[in-house]
Amino acid sequence: MAKLEMELTDEQGALLEARLQRAFDTRNEAALIARKIENAATAEELENIAREYRFCDKADFSGIDRTIARKVLRVLLNVLYRFPKLAGRLNYVGSYRNYEMFLARMGEGDMECVREVGLQEIFDESMARTFGKFGVELCKELWEDDMMSLSAYVSMGGLCNGLLFDSVGGQDLAYLNALSVIRKNEQIGFHPKGCNSFESVVYHEIGHMIDEMCFFSFSEEGAAFLAQYSSEEIAQGLSRYATASPRECVAEAIAEAFSSPSPRKIATEIYEKIQNCM
Ligand SMILES: [Zn+2]
Repeated sequence: MAKLEMELTDEQGALLEARLQRAFDTRNEAALIARKIENAATAEELENIAREYRFCDKADFSGIDRTIARKVLRVLLNVLYRFPKLAGRLNYVGSYRNYEMFLARMGEGDMECVREVGLQEIFDESMARTFGKFGVELCKELWEDDMMSLSAYVSMGGLCNGLLFDSVGGQDLAYLNALSVIRKNEQIGFHPKGCNSFESVVYHEIGHMIDEMCFFSFSEEGAAFLAQYSSEEIAQGLSRYATASPRECVAEAIAEAFSSPSPRKIATEIYEKIQNCM
């Protein structure tokens, strides 16, 4: 695994902490934002909505089908009202390819990239170079491990986390194939009930972000809470994939809690437990 050789001073650490604490303003009117998302005609207009309402530091929807970009924003809108602090960890939202290119530019010392994700107070040029190069390496490893699907989350400690999507169109064959696999996996119980859409894959990835933010499955308390369910109970009452690890269990539970019209017991219990940890 690529390792980041970079140390933050106390001052930089404090700035990063403040950055992580940023929250979405839930006084915004959800219906109004939802209407703007529906009416946006171009990728640029959708990016502007993400910027105006501070969904994330940077949204780049170039190369992403507008239908998909709209779905992403709807999901984010839904999540941010329930987990406003997630905004502090949503740094980059866009395609795999553009994210990697963005990090590569940072690795060349392009300070415009640093400003675009609001890191100018923390990174000087040499740090930007180190971080960008590390990011490119990390992406390569993730792609090699075949972590790419319809969506992925790349954790970068809140400096430049990526919520990423494939650069496919909503009618693209690869996209439709991936969707049919997801539908089949839902039917056979490999994925949770109601998790049969592009959106549910995004909710799963966001589930990993929420888990990381609350330090849930990694903590003793979280692990003990999850251990109350046997493997069989999880396989039957949530999904078979959820038995892979505590992390996947949490992501699957959050995906069901958001995607299903009537989430089942395990998904509801894990979701509520995590919300109470906030
Ligand atoms: Zn996962």
